[in-house]
Amino acid sequence: MKGLMMDRPLLISSIAEHAARFHGSREIVSVTVDDPRHRTNWRNVVSRSRKLANALDRLGLERGDRVATLAWNDHRHLELYYSVSGAGYVCHTINPRLFADQLVFIINHAQDRWLFTDPLFLPLVEKLHPALETLEGIVVLTDDAHLPETSLPNVRSYESLIGDEPDTYEWPDLDERSASALCYTSGTTGDPKGVLYDHRSTILHAYAGVAPDVLGLSSQDVVLPVVPLFHVNAWGIPYSAGITGAKLVLPGPKMADGEVLCSLFNDEAVTIALGVPTVWLALLQHTEKTGKRIETLKRTIIGGAAVPRSMIEAFRDKHGVEVRQGWGMTEMSPIGAVNTLKAGLEHLDDDAQLDLATKAGRGVYGCELRIVDDEGTELPWDGEAFGALQVRGPWVCSDYFRLDGTAGTHTDDGWFTTGDVATIDPEGYVAITDRTKDVIKSGGEWISSIELENVIMGHPAVAEAAVIGVPHPKWTERPLLVVVLGEGKSADKAELLKYYDGRVADWWLPNDVVFVDELPHTATGKVKKLELRKQFADFKLPA
Ligand code: ADP
Repeated sequence: MKGLMMDRPLLISSIAEHAARFHGSREIVSVTVDDPRHRTNWRNVVSRSRKLANALDRLGLERGDRVATLAWNDHRHLELYYSVSGAGYVCHTINPRLFADQLVFIINHAQDRWLFTDPLFLPLVEKLHPALETLEGIVVLTDDAHLPETSLPNVRSYESLIGDEPDTYEWPDLDERSASALCYTSGTTGDPKGVLYDHRSTILHAYAGVAPDVLGLSSQDVVLPVVPLFHVNAWGIPYSAGITGAKLVLPGPKMADGEVLCSLFNDEAVTIALGVPTVWLALLQHTEKTGKRIETLKRTIIGGAAVPRSMIEAFRDKHGVEVRQGWGMTEMSPIGAVNTLKAGLEHLDDDAQLDLATKAGRGVYGCELRIVDDEGTELPWDGEAFGALQVRGPWVCSDYFRLDGTAGTHTDDGWFTTGDVATIDPEGYVAITDRTKDVIKSGGEWISSIELENVIMGHPAVAEAAVIGVPHPKWTERPLLVVVLGEGKSADKAELLKYYDGRVADWWLPNDVVFVDELPHTATGKVKKLELRKQFADFKLPA
């Protein structure tokens, strides 16, 4: 027997209209290229999204066509999010930090018809343009007065594009499984792969994000995503904030500027911020140097890479801010696990709670998890056994765009292989020990590079660290610690290695330490282990 409930599709446009109607006056503050503190609200953003939808229809686009964005976090990018998807097109967000040949590859692979770009990226677009096969026109995210000179054909300003359009629009009643957005993985090995989100997956993920033990958003919150709108939908914040009516603070091109971020936090009374560890490293260094405090922040959600214990402590002890670690990936929209203390674990002492907080998190409802060995046999959740982490759920990708099942990432029984290696403890907390390709194989056993990095990050002289496996005649591979020391700090090899005493098993101890001025980072701010491994491929470990 079927139930008797309405079959209303889950559509992104419904979030826009909800936000405009119920929290229209709630503010959206942006840093843009033409305004250091632009102020608008949900009502205006949605009204302008409707204008843009009219303009997009007039460009002659067809349902499912890809419209690309090359832009920082600001109100215009947010309007594109709602407008492009809501009108039935696919919003392809592009990471401007990718290499030029990767950008050309993904724009051609996605068959983007129009590109909306920040003025700052025009020189980059001019460089790429001759190689772009499907692009028909370019819209620059500014007004006519600020439109830079360019040699590109068919260019117009965003404000002139939408200026004369009506602010009424009949959002189409799409199938909720229609594609809504497209984001390519950074492609550390091989070509980037496109993850194609749909309306249903986006809304289910946004609902999950709102929950108290996930991101925990309410209309009272002021949210600052330092995660870019060009990478995995800024962890769903544009949608979760629209559902709740949270105020948004969007830092534009100032994502890595400690001073601007600090003043945005304090002036706009930010309560929740989200970002990858490298961003917070820079911010904490800034507050340390200037003696500033982050006043109103209640919590940071940190993910995308392992969060060092020292960072959790610094936020808690110096700023009174809770760190919530999260784990996920582009293929998972991205949220898979978030770390909050479960009822029944309050008795844990301070140290044990900190240990727990360094884990990636526990599974969020909607994302099933399992770990398996090389034969695909499920491993126990005992916090000891580690294996390949696989996931399944309505916001996990079932394939990549235009790869037709050739990626080899899905199991026969319908699980997605994340490429991460993890343990899961009896309480359901996942600890990522490595990416499959970063794991250090020493004499048939595995050593977790992430754990070695986390420990050494607690040493007061260490600013950043990476551990990689380098070839070893007897053990196949042994760990090498690569360290960046903090400004004005000093420590020698012996002192750093001694710091591991009692903190990791003896046989995990790195065989050597190298000091460098900086580590290479990926376009999303993670340490580029692949490049480090290449750099130290011929490294001779001491006998
Ligand atoms: P890319 O790095 O290719 O841009 P993603 O941004 O999708 O791709 O990154 C996903 C990966 O980041 C995960 O598979 C995992 O290896 C890593 N990651 C994410 N969160 C965490 C975490 N909390 N701890 C450890 N690793 C993490």
